[in-house]
Amino acid sequence: MLEASPIPVVIQVAVYTPIHSSVGGLLSYTHCTALPAGTLVRVSLGPRRLLGVVWNPSADAPPLPAHAKLRAIDAVMQGLPALDAHWQHLVSFAARYYQRSVGEIAMAGLPPLLRDMTAEQLAKRLTPPKPKKLSNKVTAFAASVPQPAQELVALSPEQQTVCSQIEQYPGPFLLYGSTGSGKTEVYMRVVQQALQADPQAQALVMVPEINLTPQLQERFEARFVPLFGAQAVVSMHSGMTDVQRLKSWLAAHTGQARIVLGTRMSVFASLPRLKVIVVDEEHDASYKQQEGARYSARDLALWRGHAVGAKVILGSATPSLESWHASEPAIHGGQGRYLRLHMPSRIGAGELPRVRMVDMTQQPKKTVFSPPLLAAITERVQRGEQSLILLNRRGFAPVLFCADCSWKSDCPHCSAHQVFHKGDRTLRCHHCGFTQRVPHACPNCGNPDILPLGKGTEQLEEELERLLRNVQRPDGNPARVARIDADTTKLKGALQAQLALVHSGEVDVLIGTQMIAKGHDFRRMTLVAAVQPDGALFSSDFRAPERLFCLLMQAAGRAGRDAAYVRAQDSRPEMWVQSMEPQHSVFAALRQHDYPSFAAQQLRERQEAGMPPFAFQALVRADAKTQETAQAFLRAASDAARQGQLPHLQDMYLYPPIPMAVQRVANVERAQMLIESSDRRALQRFLHAWQPWLHWVRSQPEHKGVVRWLMDVDPLSL
Ligand code: ADP
Ligand code: ZN
Ligand code: ZN
Repeated sequence: MLEASPIPVVIQVAVYTPIHSSVGGLLSYTHCTALPAGTLVRVSLGPRRLLGVVWNPSADAPPLPAHAKLRAIDAVMQGLPALDAHWQHLVSFAARYYQRSVGEIAMAGLPPLLRDMTAEQLAKRLTPPKPKKLSNKVTAFAASVPQPAQELVALSPEQQTVCSQIEQYPGPFLLYGSTGSGKTEVYMRVVQQALQADPQAQALVMVPEINLTPQLQERFEARFVPLFGAQAVVSMHSGMTDVQRLKSWLAAHTGQARIVLGTRMSVFASLPRLKVIVVDEEHDASYKQQEGARYSARDLALWRGHAVGAKVILGSATPSLESWHASEPAIHGGQGRYLRLHMPSRIGAGELPRVRMVDMTQQPKKTVFSPPLLAAITERVQRGEQSLILLNRRGFAPVLFCADCSWKSDCPHCSAHQVFHKGDRTLRCHHCGFTQRVPHACPNCGNPDILPLGKGTEQLEEELERLLRNVQRPDGNPARVARIDADTTKLKGALQAQLALVHSGEVDVLIGTQMIAKGHDFRRMTLVAAVQPDGALFSSDFRAPERLFCLLMQAAGRAGRDAAYVRAQDSRPEMWVQSMEPQHSVFAALRQHDYPSFAAQQLRERQEAGMPPFAFQALVRADAKTQETAQAFLRAASDAARQGQLPHLQDMYLYPPIPMAVQRVANVERAQMLIESSDRRALQRFLHAWQPWLHWVRSQPEHKGVVRWLMDVDPLSL
């Protein structure tokens, strides 16, 4: 016990204050006793009452002025163990690396409800309700009845080799395994091994998308609840209610939960005995937070694993080029930092789908489903097999168009078209959300004949329903087409309900965006088609080919996952691609399912051009009323870096400011400036030193028009 001292102790507290604000650092308060770092407290800041975390002052924190009048801490959140030193290190590191305030990252890592709770409310929640005597006995009995443990499948030889290597080496590992090669089974074995070896060990298993968590949760619960109890497996993602999230967080923090399944946010979960971290589909862009603190959960997972000595396993059939390069042995010109483990074969000797290209230059203009593709889909329906049609564009048509005066349905607030949604007869901007009724005639010239231009998922669904009108399933019923995208899944539970229809075989053809291309274990799917993938080939973003290739490989991975089913059906899984550029190298690699040669070719190009992973990047973005104001700020920031002679300036390449790809959103003009360096640490130090300069430039009267600026370290899209 710490004795109450007569003189109040000064305590540093991290609270949610953005780094851009004048109170971006740690704040000082007083308390009657010293408090250990990591203690949760409630403090006042101006009129606001905030949650804070007691923090060890960093060495470079400015000393307090002697006359400073400090407020006392309002309350200590009693009954909750302090967040441990590892967690604090993680938060400090992430704040430093992503150029944010410690408080911002710390609060992002805590459940929202906790932020709003008083000490009394928390105390109430932490005292379990007193159960009645009788039911107490019953539940205690129920909990002690062991549930039958799942019988484990025999591992494939590849799975066995991989598991023993993970046991033998410290990692980190890149598990490069084909879609359906049994990666999830490997994760479960590794987790089980760690949890059985140490009765307090915990594991963190991350997936990129919320919609992948239920299926994973089922698999993990079936396996681990019998072994470790009903409380052992918890989820953490933004689709949960605040109460559920708090419960999961508390369970992990107190060590009751042994396994946390979650999306990127779970990388900050408090896990005092963390021994294993899995990052499934590690290539997925969803691991990068795209607003606020723009962290990469995959990269933080690697850092965290290293810091606490937990094994880290990154898994993918199409690894990010960063991870591929990092796991390429040094003798082959790579970095050799991760151990690459390979599982090329599908479980049950299933085949990867044969890739069929359709040259759309040979098809009549405006063809959506080429005759051979339509015939292939028809045949699947008649055999009772399922098909998946991928189109990465929701709505009915990307734009409405008047052929008389060339009017287009542009968003009045953005440099983008408003998308035509036929279902509710609206024009909607996918950038700012601005929604209008569809006009009856051209608003410009009155022509009543305005036309949809291009195709979205909604139109594809309508068209396919028409084309398959007379096609019957083996049970004599008409073919059933369904669509899954952000529009059909807005309601809570809608996605799960729709996926259930697919899994049960109700649906014959599923149309959707990338949301359905990844991760799902569809058992009856034997055909996957990408009908218009070409857009990505002409993007100015250097990562576009990588993203397209991954998406198509992942989509292909949904076909023919159940080898026994495919054999029983005497079927042959196929991946169809319709393209105006069928010879493109992306498709050539896809045809061979040849990720390594695709990666090698891309990495060669990146090396020649000095791009990631051979260089490191950061973006500074500015938003303002005019493009000129935004760019002027960035130019001034860049001048300031030169005049201030910032450290490592000579190792930085500062590009000139340019408008962003979608230049105007919600009436705000957006510009960006790229900073590149071949030295990651130098870039870090430079950015850190630059921060105060950026604040200073922003405070100058000539840059008043800047609405905001932000920094994105290791940006994923340019
Ligand atoms: P991935 O994560 O690599 O896509 P999964 O782990 O989901 O692959 O495995 C694909 C399917 O194969 C799943 O239905 C899974 O239950 C099954 N499976 C995995 N490993 C084995 C095994 N050793 N024996 C039999 N079935 C397996
Ligand atoms: Zn808009
Ligand atoms: Zn017109």
